[in-house]
Amino acid sequence: MTVTDPQSAAPLPLLLLGRGADPSTERGVECPGDLPSASDPDLVDRARKAREALGERAFLLGHHYQRDEVIQFADVSGDSFKLARDAAARPEAEFIIFCGVHFMAESADILTGDHQQVILPDLAAGCSMADMARILQVEDAWARLADAGVASSTVPVTYMNSSADIKAFVGRNGGAVCTSSNAQRALEWAFEQGEKVLFFPDQHLGRNTAVLQMGFSLEDCIVIDPHQPGFGVTDEELRNARILLWKGHCSVHGRFTADSVREVRERVPGVNVLVHPECKYEVVTQADYIGSTEYIIKTIDEAPSGSAWAVGTELNLVKRLADRHPDKNVVFLDRNVCFCSTMNRIDLPHLVWAMESLVEGRVVNRIQVDPDTAHWAGVALDRMLALPGISPAKD
Ligand code: SF4
Repeated sequence: MTVTDPQSAAPLPLLLLGRGADPSTERGVECPGDLPSASDPDLVDRARKAREALGERAFLLGHHYQRDEVIQFADVSGDSFKLARDAAARPEAEFIIFCGVHFMAESADILTGDHQQVILPDLAAGCSMADMARILQVEDAWARLADAGVASSTVPVTYMNSSADIKAFVGRNGGAVCTSSNAQRALEWAFEQGEKVLFFPDQHLGRNTAVLQMGFSLEDCIVIDPHQPGFGVTDEELRNARILLWKGHCSVHGRFTADSVREVRERVPGVNVLVHPECKYEVVTQADYIGSTEYIIKTIDEAPSGSAWAVGTELNLVKRLADRHPDKNVVFLDRNVCFCSTMNRIDLPHLVWAMESLVEGRVVNRIQVDPDTAHWAGVALDRMLALPGISPAKD
């Protein structure tokens, strides 16, 4: 059974639950070789032995949103860009084992040497936000802007959380990458280059930055919807708008609502609400503090004993912060559990399988960006790094 993708006109397989498999979208669900059982009591011991056997040949990176069972084996933890830069600073490591999601491993491959191989323990660990902007859609949108006569005055800016081919598109078209901590500076730079900005894939980060940090109005922003005819906007709207926001969002941060904030304020007296800028506008405008993952960690680490915090970000991180600070009341912003399901694909069985395979001389799940894409994505990353006042990036 197939359906047609309105953007690419390419047939997409539609699989009924439990019938058939789609190897192109379910990559990594099955591992060649034996994936250890999650109930194997020797799993931690096997991980330790494989890690020791790899020694300096491997460098293991763990994103802040990873499970504890994985993060305990990380040589460094951090946000996506910090991890990619950490990897680049370890040229002696033959294998970069990236416990994160696909776009992060791509960035690590772009920033590391040709002699280094980046491994993603489960190829199904994607990012739903990154997947919301596909290169064919973005190229079609750019053509739509050209038809409306605004492409030449528009500068594309992409969030770090995007695929390598989107970063390369931005690099080829005079734009830059940004992170959640430097989005304002990147947008200011973009407005020095042109009259409008096309921002993707996260509409919330783009809107929050433009309106709350840079003084644009909500009316200055329009949403480019790849699933609507004409991208859901008229030529006049394209000509009048300053910020063209791609209709994408994070499936974790996008869950929080203004009701979550109201409810936690009633439930926890005196609570400080601290959220990530990938949350919706209605949430960040109700919060007390807004900032990147690193900002959230620093704020909780430095908060006075006895203070109360409701944190709107991924649950693994919030739980770790609560465990680390038993003298503070750290709670999750929403009552519903909210892990990043794709990040959680990387579990101990996949990590053990990847490391043991490397010990046996089998390189598995290598993430490799082709040279042309890597070059142009690197151009977009370098433009971000060249911005004055840019600090090490945060996700
Ligand atoms: S938390 Fe959101 S942006 Fe980060 S990897 Fe998961 S889906 Fe993507």
